[in-house]
Amino acid sequence: MFSVENRGRTDLTQTEEGCELSQSLLKNGYIGDDEVKRYPGVTKQVGIHPVIECSQNIPCNPCQDACKFGCITIGENITALPIVNVKAECKNCGMCVASCSGQAIFLVDEDCGENMATVTLPYEFLPLPDKGVNGQALNRKGDSVCSATVVDVKTSSAFDHTALLTMKVPKEYADYARFFVMD
Ligand code: SF4
Ligand code: SF4
Repeated sequence: MFSVENRGRTDLTQTEEGCELSQSLLKNGYIGDDEVKRYPGVTKQVGIHPVIECSQNIPCNPCQDACKFGCITIGENITALPIVNVKAECKNCGMCVASCSGQAIFLVDEDCGENMATVTLPYEFLPLPDKGVNGQALNRKGDSVCSATVVDVKTSSAFDHTALLTMKVPKEYADYARFFVMD
């Protein structure tokens, strides 16, 4: 959709893969909760796994290079949408989350026990919250959806100034909770 031959077109409705474009992203700046499941980076798996909410054919592939465990594939065509390989085991290293300049990658464990889920997100605000801090989980639109507790904050020179914040939320919000704010 961003190729030279498509410059200026406003009539595109699908990605190169045939996924319907997110109209909410185009109009409002965020993907709708009902739209995000269309994209090949969004899967459900047992245990911690990447959820890649990348929905447009932009020339970008650092997420593929970042994952040394074969979980993410874009392939030779750099504008292809990233695909999550459900047969590869995610090691929870966080490199894909930190490498995505679009902040489109999350690590999700949809069921970490006691009816809770964890969501790891890129966090680029200071001060960093401490582990154990309570707050609110925000959805893609930026609205508060539920209470959340910070269970981990990782920093590393390899993350290039992006911290990885992991929050615990009720499991029914695993597909919606995408940011954290302190109370
Ligand atoms: S967290 Fe690490 S192992 Fe898991 S998908 Fe991302 S880069 Fe790959
Ligand atoms: S690095 Fe982010 S924006 Fe770029 S292709 Fe991967 S998920 Fe999409």
